[in-house]
Amino acid sequence: MILSSCKSTILDWDNESIQSRKCYEIAKKHQKPVIGMEPIKGGTLADLPDEAEVLLKKAQPQSSLASWALRYAASLDNVMMVLSGMSQLEQVADNTDYMQDFQPLLPSDYQVIGQVVEILRQAIAIPCTACRYCVEGCPKQIPIPEYFALYNAEKQALNKGFSTQQVYYNNYTETHSKASDCLSCHKCEKSCPQHIAVAEKLALVAETFENS
Ligand code: SF4
Ligand code: SF4
Repeated sequence: MILSSCKSTILDWDNESIQSRKCYEIAKKHQKPVIGMEPIKGGTLADLPDEAEVLLKKAQPQSSLASWALRYAASLDNVMMVLSGMSQLEQVADNTDYMQDFQPLLPSDYQVIGQVVEILRQAIAIPCTACRYCVEGCPKQIPIPEYFALYNAEKQALNKGFSTQQVYYNNYTETHSKASDCLSCHKCEKSCPQHIAVAEKLALVAETFENS
């Protein structure tokens, strides 16, 4: 049996770089069973902005945030398995609870998910999952995921009128290369599973933290 694996997260579905929808549709067209990978996007979709969490809890008070992401992938036709990456017993209990007698998402659920995706797109400026695959080969040893996390936090914090990220960034640069030290060699980008334009995003990080 030939299988196809697809990035299956809510956020990656229509992402221009990752093209989950297109990959899935090709697998489906050729009647290949699909394995959904990274449905929770490295944990990102289990830790949502307040606005998104309120929406999901209002729609289904008993469902965990992670369950929405997993059920999204599992509701697709032709998906034979979803690799959920559980690391705690409570996650196993949660997953088995709703997967035992699985009910696919309803049209009303997709409407809520659409609203959440929009919130996330605005809140997560750089969709880095901190896997660190990019770091090892960087000739400047730039702490890429740490800088992206600070940048994302800065963007979210700005919305809430509070930010301490600048202090953290300054501390980092005392012992590490700065974002502006990036050589734009693009070596790191070849190993990024999220297809992030690292050099381009580091320029944004530098603009944000190095001009104050
Ligand atoms: S593009 Fe920048 S961050 Fe990426 S490997 Fe090259 S120097 Fe490092
Ligand atoms: S490889 Fe991509 S997703 Fe992973 S830490 Fe680096 S930038 Fe983030």
